[in-house]
Amino acid sequence: SPLIIAIDGPSGSGKSSVSKAVASRLGVGYLDTGAMYRALTWWCLDQGVDLADEAAVVAAAQTLPLELSTDPDDQRVGVGGSDVTVDIRTTEISSQVSRVATNTGVRPILQQAQRDRMAAIATATGGVVAEGRDITTVVAPDALVRILLTASEEARLRRRSAEVHGTADEEAMAATRDQVLRRDRDDSSVSQFTVAADGVVTVDTSDLGFDESVEAVLAVVAS
Ligand code: C5P
Repeated sequence: SPLIIAIDGPSGSGKSSVSKAVASRLGVGYLDTGAMYRALTWWCLDQGVDLADEAAVVAAAQTLPLELSTDPDDQRVGVGGSDVTVDIRTTEISSQVSRVATNTGVRPILQQAQRDRMAAIATATGGVVAEGRDITTVVAPDALVRILLTASEEARLRRRSAEVHGTADEEAMAATRDQVLRRDRDDSSVSQFTVAADGVVTVDTSDLGFDESVEAVLAVVAS
């Protein structure tokens, strides 16, 4: 049976980079569900859809012309023919995406799209690593392997700061703190992604380097 691996965690847990490396090592496809919420947010803003207009955002979700690569070593995100791989990572999108993700009409549409994509990827490559906030609990509660990647707040801020500002000095950390903690708060209604649900294995990466985090996840997969 296909190797379905579900990984959840907050931002800065190392979730995306670790998930990609795990998929690459196992030779299976990869699905970044956060990229789908980000792409929808980008599309709404591009189309002039008011994010406060819940029905309009749901309509956009139903027609989102999304192209997502499944190769963990070459992640590309396209919307309606535009390459938005870089554009969906801006601070503007990061600060708006929770408004789309907490739209209760949007979630079931993207969750079903994610299940469909996971099935297609698994058929094509023999497995899939899917990562997000609600993959272990809602999107794929029956996945063969379910992991919650966590890290201390300090470790998460340090990583995000290094990622966004290229440094984790005091000033960069302070700028990052507001953003990360605000998104945690905005996302807290999305799903409980800081405490592992029943049967979900927690991997705490606070004191692990990148390679060690990848090995820790691979060890859970092998167990
Ligand atoms: O993982 P990433 O930071 O790219 O996710 C962007 C946003 O998408 C999250 O802050 C959250 O609002 C939303 N999201 C979600 N459910 C998922 C994945 C992401 O609501 N499974």
